[in-house]
Amino acid sequence: MAPSDRPVRVRFAPSPTGFLHIGGLRTALYNYLFARKHEGTFILRIEDTDRSRYVEEAEADIQRALTWSGLAYDEGPGAEGPHAPYYQSERSALYRRYADTLIEEGHAYYAFDTEDELAAMREELATEANPQPTYNAATRMQMRNSLTLPDDEVEALLAKDTPHVIRLKVPRRETIQFTDEIRGTVSFEASGLDDQVLLKSDGMPTYHLANVVDDHHMEISHVIRGEEWLSSTPKHILMYRALGWTPPKMAHLPLILSPEGGKLSKRDANELGIPVYVRDYIEEGYEAEALVNFLAFLGWNPGTEQELFTLEELAEAFSLDRVGASGVQFDLDKLQWYNEQYVRKLSVEELVAKARPHVKAAGYDPSDETLHTVCDLMQDRITRVQDIATEAFYFFEDPDSYEPKDVKKRWKDDSADLLRMYADRLEAADTFDTDTVEALLRDLADAEDVGAGRIIHPARLAVSGRTYGPGVFGLLVGVGKEACIRRMRRAVEELG
Ligand code: GLU
Repeated sequence: MAPSDRPVRVRFAPSPTGFLHIGGLRTALYNYLFARKHEGTFILRIEDTDRSRYVEEAEADIQRALTWSGLAYDEGPGAEGPHAPYYQSERSALYRRYADTLIEEGHAYYAFDTEDELAAMREELATEANPQPTYNAATRMQMRNSLTLPDDEVEALLAKDTPHVIRLKVPRRETIQFTDEIRGTVSFEASGLDDQVLLKSDGMPTYHLANVVDDHHMEISHVIRGEEWLSSTPKHILMYRALGWTPPKMAHLPLILSPEGGKLSKRDANELGIPVYVRDYIEEGYEAEALVNFLAFLGWNPGTEQELFTLEELAEAFSLDRVGASGVQFDLDKLQWYNEQYVRKLSVEELVAKARPHVKAAGYDPSDETLHTVCDLMQDRITRVQDIATEAFYFFEDPDSYEPKDVKKRWKDDSADLLRMYADRLEAADTFDTDTVEALLRDLADAEDVGAGRIIHPARLAVSGRTYGPGVFGLLVGVGKEACIRRMRRAVEELG
């Protein structure tokens, strides 16, 4: 079903004010999926008009995050389309033109108030009922603007380049209604809106003006963005109306909540060990497919039991109808689960290739054959690729100590004797494969009349320094004959 009678054109419109956070990537993803689903166009627009908050590295960071997650855009920086440039800072003349149109048609006005005058207004007009008066229909007639000053004075002020802004003239009493594709009918009282600044004194537009002008000019059919922008929408609706334009359809995505409730702030995230920025997920070794799959479910569900989706499958299944309006809790365990699933799907060769840099960074340089064996043994037991370097370190170097509680649990009175005998038998054997090391162990257990576990547990502890891990015979072979014997003898000596 076509979501509208216009071709689908959606945009991801980040402000380069910092690194892309996880909520931003979700917004990008939903826009991307919606575009793919409807064979539409996915646009990247850089909303860089706020020069005071501009961060130089932010755009590269956004680009890298999109590339990494596979969200290729059809139009945007470097993919110039019919509506270039895609940087708002290069489109100032356009915004200026519409600010002027709004003034000419009586929907906006010049305001000359200085910072001091604004502060004085806030102080003077504050009442108990209205402790924080804003610049709006109730207060504007007491301020210095083109609605209160005589025309010739306004002309003179403008001629002298007196610093001024352009403000939206919000109606005094009116209910502004629009349909949100996710929330249904949403209404706001105009009395609760301030006379939004549209053009700042430096001639740059604010987000609101630039956003509306661009969404119209770039023929955006659906605005899909985070819930934090919902309260801006009534102002935008007023601007569309004043300019005689049909607004795009609006869809505001649910808030991302902390596992402990409430909006997930950077602070909460840090406290809970939840990475905030996409770059952190990349650095922490998450699989792009896993993060994408996880984010798709952070607000949307397919209405079926299926949990694992490729990007193409998501695009096929996605619809705004199945995006919920209420906040969704961020569940790090769920992300880990997704990541495990994707790690398991890799071929061993792929895992080897992905693990190599982590292993190297940890200071190990195993042969391809060893790394292959290790990856094969560990693939189902790790959450992230770099766990190969940390969880499985004992394949690359001798453990340097044993946990006292592990020793207590696994090292018995007969462990030293059994392990010494086992090491001797391993040393004497011609082959060192899983069948051999298993047969030798079971024979020894029979000969000594003990359960196999009496040798398996101390052997694992001696060789890996741990009480858990892959099957012990595979582990021994993975570690290699010489190292196994050395480690067993050392444990016998140290643990007695
Ligand atoms: N520049 C805004 C942001 O940083 C865009 C919001 C919107 O999509 O309208 O998220």
